[in-house]
Amino acid sequence: MKILHVASEMFPLLKTGGLADVVGALPFAQQQIGDEARILLPAYPAMLAAMPSTALVCDFDSFAGKASLRYADYHGVGIYLLEAAHLFDREGNPYHDADYQDYSDNYLRFALLAYTAAEIAEGLDTWWRPEVVHAHDWHSGLTPAYLYAKGSQVRTIFTIHNIAYQGLFASQHLPEIALPEYMMSVEGIEFHDQLSYLKAGIYYANQVTTVSPTYAREIITEENGFGLQGLLQSKAEQGQLSGVLNGVDESIWNPLTDSYLKNHYKIGNMQGKAKNKAALQKQFNLTVDKHVLLTVMVSRLTEQKGVDLLIDSIATIIKNNGQLIVLGSGNPVFEKALLQLAEKYPAYIGVCIGYDEALSHLLVAGGDVIAVPSRFEPCGLTQLYGLKYGTLPLVHRTGGLADTVEDSTETAIKVRSATGFVFDSADSDALSRAMCNMFSLWKNPGKWHSVRANAMRTNFSWQLAAEQYQVLYR
Ligand code: ADP
Repeated sequence: MKILHVASEMFPLLKTGGLADVVGALPFAQQQIGDEARILLPAYPAMLAAMPSTALVCDFDSFAGKASLRYADYHGVGIYLLEAAHLFDREGNPYHDADYQDYSDNYLRFALLAYTAAEIAEGLDTWWRPEVVHAHDWHSGLTPAYLYAKGSQVRTIFTIHNIAYQGLFASQHLPEIALPEYMMSVEGIEFHDQLSYLKAGIYYANQVTTVSPTYAREIITEENGFGLQGLLQSKAEQGQLSGVLNGVDESIWNPLTDSYLKNHYKIGNMQGKAKNKAALQKQFNLTVDKHVLLTVMVSRLTEQKGVDLLIDSIATIIKNNGQLIVLGSGNPVFEKALLQLAEKYPAYIGVCIGYDEALSHLLVAGGDVIAVPSRFEPCGLTQLYGLKYGTLPLVHRTGGLADTVEDSTETAIKVRSATGFVFDSADSDALSRAMCNMFSLWKNPGKWHSVRANAMRTNFSWQLAAEQYQVLYR
């Protein structure tokens, strides 16, 4: 089957979060099971730099001015780059400027992306047409709307990677993005008098998916639906809403071959992990001691990610003589609080504010535990990386975290299904209690190693996800 993915990020070309990891892995897995996947991306400077020799497919005019479609093969997957320098030739973050201000023309930039996807579906590239268009997150949410407006027969899937980001814009922009006026309605793309690009994707797509089965159930509730629960509920009733778990890209995330690591390891030969841990302790000026439990966190520092819960539980780590290293950036309040903790407890806590791909691999490889205390989590990838690397996830029972980590209860340890530590409510007391379980398991190396081996044997593969999407496409 011919599939066109539409997205705004793709690892390793440009990444701000998990979406990029998905787009950088799923199409390749689809090729391997016999589908033909291509990807449409905006031609950000990073994309053009990574693909210097592209072929011009065509130039075209649009509501957003002149644009070009370029094409290149990237490791076996076809990539279309949407070139419109006035919209996409901006360095750095693809959504906001250096002061964290959203670009004021985002409504136009991502309308053009979606419009171009619809045009490709309808023959903009005379050599190739998709049978299914698979749009990801609000950035490409208008794609099903443009296809609907055109009366296209091409089927669409829209995947929600995070419902909290909705792409809301003033309704007065509607005429500028060439969508018919009738769509500005509750039965359409309107959301509380604004345009919602996310809602457009949900409303007009033939199938809506999200990135874990539990999150698919959570978003139809008032608590987690961000106002879209009614629409999602009706999609679910029509059999048009489901969850497909993300996988781990083993060509990037594998402790035996990881190109970011000096010390590799596998089950049965774990010295490499111990060396990575020592390297981390040294790098962050913590006491170098293999007996100290090292917890790591690699995350955007936002309220969603529960970083404040971790900050509020720090006493439990200190009391148990544990260590913590956090890599992340985001809300300045959390950044400051973490830096203050590192200053106060330099032997216990290390903090790196920023984005660092190589360090993220070393943390996942060198930690004993990876904390993912998210208030909500559509899928979550770092806990999956943690499992693969024998770095036991410490997670809140929500979304994809609930689907992928099994708490180390006595029974689960006995039947060898335990893979981490799970707490039930998003508060620091519950997190602290889970930490106490973690420290008590740490005191029993035999049990710890058994749980660690269970974790490393889990298999969240992209092949499985590709097969599930194939069924949905059909
Ligand atoms: P989200 O997409 O909500 O940010 P995910 O867990 O799905 O969360 O994906 C996050 C991805 O971004 C992971 O690959 C993680 O390793 C990476 N990441 C997050 N923060 C950083 C950082 N500061 N430096 C390097 N990688 C990071």
